[in-house]
Formats: sequence, structure tokens, C-alpha cells
Amino acid sequence: MHLKALTLRGFKSFASATTLRFEPGITCVVGPNGSGKSNVVDALSWVMGEQGAKSLRGGKMEDVIFAGTTGRPPLGRAEVSLTIDNSDGALPIEYAEVTLTRIMFRNGGSEYQINGDTCRLLDFQELLSDSGIGREMHVIVGQGQLDSVLHADPMGRRAFIEEAAGVLKHRKRKEKALRK
Ligand code: ATP
Ligand code: MG
Repeated sequence: MHLKALTLRGFKSFASATTLRFEPGITCVVGPNGSGKSNVVDALSWVMGEQGAKSLRGGKMEDVIFAGTTGRPPLGRAEVSLTIDNSDGALPIEYAEVTLTRIMFRNGGSEYQINGDTCRLLDFQELLSDSGIGREMHVIVGQGQLDSVLHADPMGRRAFIEEAAGVLKHRKRKEKALRK
């Protein structure tokens, strides 16, 4: 499994549709300060289901929508698509290529799609959590995050181990069932 492409439309500073294609191996994104490198990483987290505005370096969720510049008016929606090569079947879905799309409107509405079919956020989370990518999976290691692993309390350390062992998903499902 590898990430093939990421398309941003109206996401943060990427007002026009912009596609980044990734080959197997290492990809480096370089550019001057403020040119949007971290926004690309934010788009990756966001399309994989991130729900915390702070993790996306914003104050509120709609801060991911292009806010406008002097020459360009704000947009009403942000959209990010992530295409994953699944020819090895790492994702539990019968497609050799999987495109996840997340859309958010300024009025607060949002939409999730797997290969163009509308689905729930939960479907994203379940699809990704088995594969070791996705939300809270430490696939994206931010500044200062290594420190938090080293200084975690016993419960925090347990959560890392549960995640690595793949039981976190089942615990979340259990908690959800108990809440009903
Ligand atoms: P550095 O090298 O300093 O880390 P960077 O390349 O990571 O820089 P980013 O943090 O990705 O830069 O981009 C910051 C830019 O994105 C800022 O100019 C900011 O105004 C712009 N930006 C962030 N959110 C939005 C938004 N919703 N609408 C328009 N522009 C935005
Ligand atoms: Mg940055």
C-alpha cells in the first residue's frame, strides 16, 4: 500500500485545485516559509478524518476553508481527496485503488466519500485503522510529538501499545456500543 496522490481544492492556501503525486519511496516537499508545506500535511490528516481544529493548526474547523487573499475572494467549501494504491489489499476493501474524499462547507455541513460513494466518517476510520494509517495513528509525527511519547503516563503508554496491537478500534466500538 502506498499513497498515490493528494488533491486539494479550496483547502487552506490551496484555492485552486492542486494535485501532488507520490511515487513509492520518499517524497520531500520544499518551499519558502509560508508557502503551504505544512498545509499539505494538514490536508493529509484532515482527509483521513482528523476532527480536531487544533491538530490542523486552526481555531475552528472552518479555518481549513480558503479564507481569501487580497486578490481572491474566500471560498465556500474545502475538498481534499487522497488516492491510495491498495493493490496489495492492505485496506479491507475490494478495490486496487481507493480514493477518500472529504468535503466541508462553510455552513458546517460535511461529506465523506469512498471511491465517489457517500459514506460516514466511521467508514473512513474503520477502513484506515486496520491498515495502520489514519487518525491518531502516529503516521504523522509533528514537532514535539516524540517528547509526548517519551513523557507519557501509564495510561498514555497503554494507548500507544493498544494502537500498535490493533485493539484500539475494538475498544472504540465497545465504548460506542455501551453509550447507546
Ligand atoms: P514554514 O516553512 O514556515 O513552516 P509552510 O510552508 O509550512 O511554512 P504553511 O504553514 O503550510 O507554510 O502555510 C501558511 C500559509 O497558509 C499562511 O500564509 C496562511 O495565511 C495560509 N493559510 C492558512 N490557512 C488559510 C486559509 N484558510 N485560507 C487562506 N490561506 C490560509
Ligand atoms: Mg511549516
